[in-house]
Amino acid sequence: MLSIDEAQRMILTKITPLETEKVSLFHGLNRVTPENHVAPWDIPPADNSAMDGYAFAHASCSGGRLRVCGFLPAGEERLAPVPPGEAVKIMTGAPLPLDCDTVVPVEDVEEESEQIRLTHPVKAGSHVRGRGEDIRRGDVVIPAGSLLRPQEIGMLSAMGTTSLAVFRRARVAILSTGDELLEPGSTPAPGKIINSNSYSLAAQVLDAGGDPLLLGIAADTLDATAEKIRAGLNADMLVITGGVSVGDRDFVKAAIEALGGEVTFWKVNMKPGKPLAFAMLQGKPVFALPGNPVAAMVSFELFVRPSILKAMGNRRVFRPRIRAILREAATNRGPRPHLVRGIVSLHDHSYHVSTTGDQSSGRLSSMIQGNGLISLQPEARYQAGDEVEVLLLDRGFEMGAL
Ligand code: AMP
Ligand code: MG
Repeated sequence: MLSIDEAQRMILTKITPLETEKVSLFHGLNRVTPENHVAPWDIPPADNSAMDGYAFAHASCSGGRLRVCGFLPAGEERLAPVPPGEAVKIMTGAPLPLDCDTVVPVEDVEEESEQIRLTHPVKAGSHVRGRGEDIRRGDVVIPAGSLLRPQEIGMLSAMGTTSLAVFRRARVAILSTGDELLEPGSTPAPGKIINSNSYSLAAQVLDAGGDPLLLGIAADTLDATAEKIRAGLNADMLVITGGVSVGDRDFVKAAIEALGGEVTFWKVNMKPGKPLAFAMLQGKPVFALPGNPVAAMVSFELFVRPSILKAMGNRRVFRPRIRAILREAATNRGPRPHLVRGIVSLHDHSYHVSTTGDQSSGRLSSMIQGNGLISLQPEARYQAGDEVEVLLLDRGFEMGAL
């Protein structure tokens, strides 16, 4: 059986970045740039005032008095010389007149009709923002492979960008399998349950930045399963849930093979979610996840999410792993590593974690309570106070509350 890490590595070597597309600047948010963005000019483009105040030549000011010879708002330029011993009233952002090198803020002067008097000593060069102080023309400001956050979007606009290339969103087809499934909106009938996996998985795709395509439910027959899988090959990747173990009605593996796909492996040493198949089918990655709602979501987290992120050009594709102090005793009696849903919290700057109770892989409510997956090693006992590794699914608990 493969370990989680081995399975992740095997899968990720098969995932190649998607093509790029041109989008308008705003739509670049949370996407990855395939190219370096180089500054076409200096930012700021000229020396300018950092304050509302008076600009003057420091060497020409003796006795702390200056005659005021003009007014310069932001957006204008003064070409006329500023004679020695004189100052120009200047607003924040206005370009510094050529003869000036220093700005004194209005707060630090006394204004008298045509004159000002400096109330504090002013150092030469103060309150001036130098040309190119932020960015120099020719600098690689945003390197290829960067994730574009609001600050990158702002910088791109400052560099004159209105549209740009980004890796396109991965289209991820989602297929649920099972004769017991009904779509939400129907009333549960005897023997039936509502298909929830399609929706938790579609939401996970969206959360990863991908574009989900719901294929609905395949009945438990080889033909029905193969037909739906074929429809999913329009997308960039296909995620299937259920029908992947060894039951009499589990047709997913056979259907992938019938369509010419080669199933790379079909068991991963983990709990929840041992039955898991990965295949390349007509060049598209196909993930066959377990049907149990928790196992499906956990398998998605470990294998599909990093794949979507890689396909969309990201270099950082794994959730953060932290060490946390276990708040209660816990035991893994089984032979597989157990990813236990945990509730992580912060106390005195250290992470603490408790479990969400019953870990049945059908209990979706354990995912609602939890915000991380605690790694319990096979056949291991832990005491309260032991340190454990936790994969953080959600960092919301670290945010300040109202
Ligand atoms: P399977 O792997 O097909 O044997 O399914 C395992 C368990 O997961 C069964 O109890 C199914 O009813 C449940 N299950 C499978 N698919 C879904 C789904 N799409 N939504 C909710 N539960 C499901
Ligand atoms: Mg099934």
